Amino acid sequence: MARTDNLLYIETEDACANCGLRDVRALTVHHIEQSAPKNEDYDNKIVLCHNCHQCHHSGKGPTKAQIEEIKSRLIVKTLTRLGLNALKRAHRGSVVIAMPFTVDHLVEWGYLRHVQDLAFWEEDEDEPKLLETGKQVASEAAYAITEKGKRLLEKWKLK
Ligand SMILES: [Zn+2]
Ligand SMILES: [Zn+2]
Repeated sequence: MARTDNLLYIETEDACANCGLRDVRALTVHHIEQSAPKNEDYDNKIVLCHNCHQCHHSGKGPTKAQIEEIKSRLIVKTLTRLGLNALKRAHRGSVVIAMPFTVDHLVEWGYLRHVQDLAFWEEDEDEPKLLETGKQVASEAAYAITEKGKRLLEKWKLK
């Protein structure tokens, strides 16, 4: 299972996003936009139970619009945890400064790109000195939004 898929289960708390059935054996990952090859982007995938999944694909509901509505709320919830504010700030300005671990999923998914590490000064010394790379306890870096990140914010109206 891809790491993205793990996060999909976390965002629905191991339940079907449509009916709430909580049984991991009965759950599957559905691709909202059907395409070949499959679009494996995080925002195109959602956890459904086999029953809801089958009903959707056979036209007995939930509809694609309903699934998108559910996913839209899940995206806000998940991205808020993974750095949505950093993404929004990067969209408004040129770069955003963040601790790498706070935005690593956004970088991994291609929504933010690393621009440069920032040099850090140790403040509590009498004589401030530049910490050597690799020894930094709290390092920050500059990130810029990617085209993919802009499309994500626009598609789901997150700006
Ligand atoms: Zn279901
Ligand atoms: Zn499907």
